[in-house]
Amino acid sequence: MRQTIQNLGRLNTVILITAISAFTSVLITFLAFYLRQNSGITSIALFLATLIPLTVTPLVSWHLIGLLMNIDKLEKEMRLLASLDPLTDVLNRRAFFQDAAQHIHRAEQERRVVSVIALDLDRFKVVNDRYGHSAGDLVLRHFAATIKANCRTTDLIGRLGGEEFALLLPNTSAAAAYALAQRLYLTLRQSVIRHEHSKIGYTVSVGVISLVPREADTIETLLNKADRSLYLAKETGRNCTVVFDG
Ligand code: GH3
Ligand code: MG
Ligand code: MG
Repeated sequence: MRQTIQNLGRLNTVILITAISAFTSVLITFLAFYLRQNSGITSIALFLATLIPLTVTPLVSWHLIGLLMNIDKLEKEMRLLASLDPLTDVLNRRAFFQDAAQHIHRAEQERRVVSVIALDLDRFKVVNDRYGHSAGDLVLRHFAATIKANCRTTDLIGRLGGEEFALLLPNTSAAAAYALAQRLYLTLRQSVIRHEHSKIGYTVSVGVISLVPREADTIETLLNKADRSLYLAKETGRNCTVVFDG
């Protein structure tokens, strides 16, 4: 019903409802005359049966259809807001897992490669301790904006919690995912975040897994493997990327 209204638009829906109500009104009047008086409809009755719906229905339905369309718009906005992390404006954990699961299922059916990337800011606790929590928040927002600027619109970006982020890149090989991580490093190296009188720099460690998913591969298992690579990147000295290798 709502989809039909969206497809038709407000004006066409009002015209359609008015036509239906005028037709129904005339039909009912005909029936009433036929059943009660067993006679034909009078011209004044026909006139009123047509005039009333033609004047009242457009006024009422224009208003109601407008309300319905507004509710639809608000619902869409609410759904979008509920899926976003309020600090960084990327997908929140729940929405990321939900959307990523769909992407992985599709990639499995179409036998296409996907990359899942786990990212964790390095020694982020030190940023908070040294410059304060609001500086930490600024860094998180800067990092999310940096990822967005380097990703395609079809890539999924999620904040899984704290200073941990994840990406799902459809149709992306390990080499391309690695190249994305290098672009992130380059941007971070060139970025200076000003907070009060301080200039803050930061780095990130990255774990990558790329594959054509099979039935047993879920976003949870893939992220787990990406996390294992991320752990190795931390062990190796941070500020680097490790690609999962079997
Ligand atoms: P590592 O390099 O091993 O990842 O060290 P780390 O300090 O980044 O990791 P750790 O898990 O010790 O610290 C994460 C910190 O992130 C601790 C927590 O206070 C901070 N944090 C989590 N969420 C937020 C947030 O929303 N805003 C700010 N400013 N800090 C946050
Ligand atoms: Mg960290
Ligand atoms: Mg962490």
